[in-house]
Amino acid sequence: MNSEDKSAEMLSYKRHTLAHLLAASVKELYPLAMPTLGPAIDNGFYYDFDFDYKIDADKRGLNADDADLNTSKKSNAPKEDDLAKIEKSMKKLLATWEGFKHLEISKEEATEIFADNEYKLELINEIADKGEKITIYYSGPKDFDFSIESLKSNDYKLPTGFFDLCRGGHLENPSKEIEIDSFKISRIAGAYWRGDEKNKMLTRIYGLAFNTKEELEKYEWTVEEAKKRDHKKLGKELKLFTTSSLIGAGLPLLQPKGMAIRKAVEDYLWELHKQKGYDRVWTPHIAKEELYVTSGHAAKFGDELFRVQGKDESFIMKPMNCPHHMQIFADNQFSYRDMPVRYFEPATVYRDEKTGQLAGLTRVRSITQDDGHLFCRTTQIEEEVSTIVGIIKEFYTTVGLMSDYWVRLSLRGDDKSAYLGTDEVWEKAEGALERAAKENNLNYKPVRGEAAFYGPKLDFMFKDALGREWQLATIQCDFNLPERFDLFFTNEKGEKERPVVIHRAISGSLERFLGIIIEHFAGAFPTWLAPVQVKIIPVRENHIEHAKKLATVLRSKDIRVECDISDEGFGKKVRAAKVDMIPYTVIIGDKDIEAGVVTLENRDKGKIGTPTQEELLAILIEEIRNKK
Ligand SMILES: [Zn+2]
Ligand SMILES: [Zn+2]
Repeated sequence: MNSEDKSAEMLSYKRHTLAHLLAASVKELYPLAMPTLGPAIDNGFYYDFDFDYKIDADKRGLNADDADLNTSKKSNAPKEDDLAKIEKSMKKLLATWEGFKHLEISKEEATEIFADNEYKLELINEIADKGEKITIYYSGPKDFDFSIESLKSNDYKLPTGFFDLCRGGHLENPSKEIEIDSFKISRIAGAYWRGDEKNKMLTRIYGLAFNTKEELEKYEWTVEEAKKRDHKKLGKELKLFTTSSLIGAGLPLLQPKGMAIRKAVEDYLWELHKQKGYDRVWTPHIAKEELYVTSGHAAKFGDELFRVQGKDESFIMKPMNCPHHMQIFADNQFSYRDMPVRYFEPATVYRDEKTGQLAGLTRVRSITQDDGHLFCRTTQIEEEVSTIVGIIKEFYTTVGLMSDYWVRLSLRGDDKSAYLGTDEVWEKAEGALERAAKENNLNYKPVRGEAAFYGPKLDFMFKDALGREWQLATIQCDFNLPERFDLFFTNEKGEKERPVVIHRAISGSLERFLGIIIEHFAGAFPTWLAPVQVKIIPVRENHIEHAKKLATVLRSKDIRVECDISDEGFGKKVRAAKVDMIPYTVIIGDKDIEAGVVTLENRDKGKIGTPTQEELLAILIEEIRNKK
């Protein structure tokens, strides 16, 4: 186990330990609460309780008054306000938890110990049915004698500490190993016993836990920040995109401002590709089913395909662009001198995702891929992949996501029969991908068994400003589609030779990418991406004419500009530009006009000077061109 895995394991032990501590504290504060199950989860832990367990007072050795408490109509479950009390009690109890002890017990003993808890009894029966060991874990003062005899003699009640049915996986000394401020109780919610809505609704208490107080605070900051940056919220506030119930779920519409960003991304992607020998192609949005039967996509996408019925023929909305590009290649009689052939097309594909899974721009039914396919000889794979890696690095460096990334090199698994293509071609392709990764100094990890059945691939994962990981760019070798569509070119000997297809996407889906960068930049886009790059604000009515003229000049230089000629006061206009996070504000007043200059303000730096019109153009054009 490496140190990273080791520390992840320790953290999960800590979270699991805290679930016990939570149950113990709840039992202390709410003696009638019935603990059920409580695991570690990826940001902490939870425990489910039945606070309104119907009791058999006799069986539980309670007096009738206690029993009455639980037969009242009012739920005994704690409220949001009670969480602080539970957390406080946990922190107090933690000091006395010096270790865990465990006992392996028989089913009969377990049934006796947990006689009053039908939830635990259900679990005990399941464990016994599977023939697994039944263990109970005690935590409390180190010198406590935890044995089946002492348990029996105390009628299964402990004078100190707490025990639970459990498989193990705890910290050795919680009181020493758990930093008191590194965990907290976060919220309370309803949850069905074992997640089944036919079962009773229980009360789930959630806690957050990290290695240190700092990590906990960072996590909480991230969650809050993610809410503020949510692209669905910002997309609405900044008028970037919308949805319409008349159009349907998962079919977002880009407002002019959202489209300006997407166009800037698309143009940049094309700029990076056209220098590398790519050609633009265009393909229609529907095709006959036969195309996708041949490509294999009909079987792959199944009921996710949208079907279109014409008068005489039926069609399918394309779920992928690849088969279309294969048809363009097939129409040519290419020779080895023409290879590689490279097509580029940002194109929309359609998949009928379940309505419940659709959200904002990240889960949609209309997905625009910055798609491209290149057809090459096996000997050309390395150079072509290297070129694409170069494009990916340049693109993500510009967008500011290249500082924290890793690449998965997905290779064939051991069962070679599960993959299409000869050993020779696989070895060549895998070697070419790995060498391309090395040459480009990529931070890559080879993973066996992760390749598609049709070829090896490189997948790029990037971390955004909040440290969330996104799989975006991909480069995939494909030996399957050229076979299925019988694609070939003529080699030096005049024979037919099969090309290899390389699928590549840089931004992935343009919709999802827009969602990610809205959140990454929190709406404060760099100038080259900003929907409005410059806001011109005339100080008074008599400056409007001058402002409009300047706007026309900027527009003619492809600068996205807005002129605020509303009736609002000057101060309010300046604030509005700030709220919209516009990179540059140009103010025009009497003094500016007299001196033949403008007053220029930057979103981050404040006032930066009074340039002339020529100087202003130079500043803006330079910044937009360099995508700073
Ligand atoms: Zn446990
Ligand atoms: Zn493809």
